Amino acid sequence: MEQFNGKIIIFSAPSGAGKSTIVRMIMERFDGFGFSVSATTRPSRGQEIDGVHYHFITPEVFKEKIKNGEFLEWEEVYEGRFYGTLKSEVNRVRKHQHVLFDVDVQGGVNIKQHYGDEAISFFIQPPSIRELRRRLILRGTDELFDINRRCEKAAYELQYAPLFDHIILNDDLETAVRLIEKILEKMEIFPQQAE
Ligand code: ADP
Ligand code: 5GP
Repeated sequence: MEQFNGKIIIFSAPSGAGKSTIVRMIMERFDGFGFSVSATTRPSRGQEIDGVHYHFITPEVFKEKIKNGEFLEWEEVYEGRFYGTLKSEVNRVRKHQHVLFDVDVQGGVNIKQHYGDEAISFFIQPPSIRELRRRLILRGTDELFDINRRCEKAAYELQYAPLFDHIILNDDLETAVRLIEKILEKMEIFPQQAE
């Protein structure tokens, strides 16, 4: 029997634009999607669970994994904060499900380049940087220092939008998710309705 080979579905955006929320909604609504759990050196925040939201590892272990070639891609997304996609994770999920990625804009471009037509990339566009800041403050998971540096980086990250297959404005959340679902449907990446 032919081996199932899930599609690569990438979500990138400045922090606070709503990628995690959108990925969560897709996974709740439809079967057949798995999440690529990244490795990071940042500490866990709020309700995050090791191995579910991220693999939380030390900078030493992260460097070891770089050396061993375990990452498909990695970035120092913020100074001293490393994030990376593990090859093992992608291969594991892909055998049974389509793989959803929540990665920064540079990572998104790199993964798309690596997988070509097997991948579809979405840039989640916030209505404005002011709204981004408002969302990050309301999310209540980051110190003001982190919120400021995330917003400072956002203007630069927005320039990456044209490099993605689709730009999705996340003003009204439900509208954004419906649009993504329509695009995935068109590509026949779809889905059995969850029970
Ligand atoms: P990211 O993963 O891109 O950093 P999140 O998904 O964590 O962003 O969203 C940041 C915050 O904004 C969360 O508190 C989320 O509930 C909220 N949010 C997401 N989409 C919208 C939207 N369309 N309108 C208002 N708030 C939103
Ligand atoms: P956060 O600290 O808010 O969870 O994530 C910060 C940024 O790092 C987000 O833009 C998120 O998408 C990105 N990120 C998470 N995992 C990875 C990864 O494996 N690779 C890259 N390049 N970025 C990632």
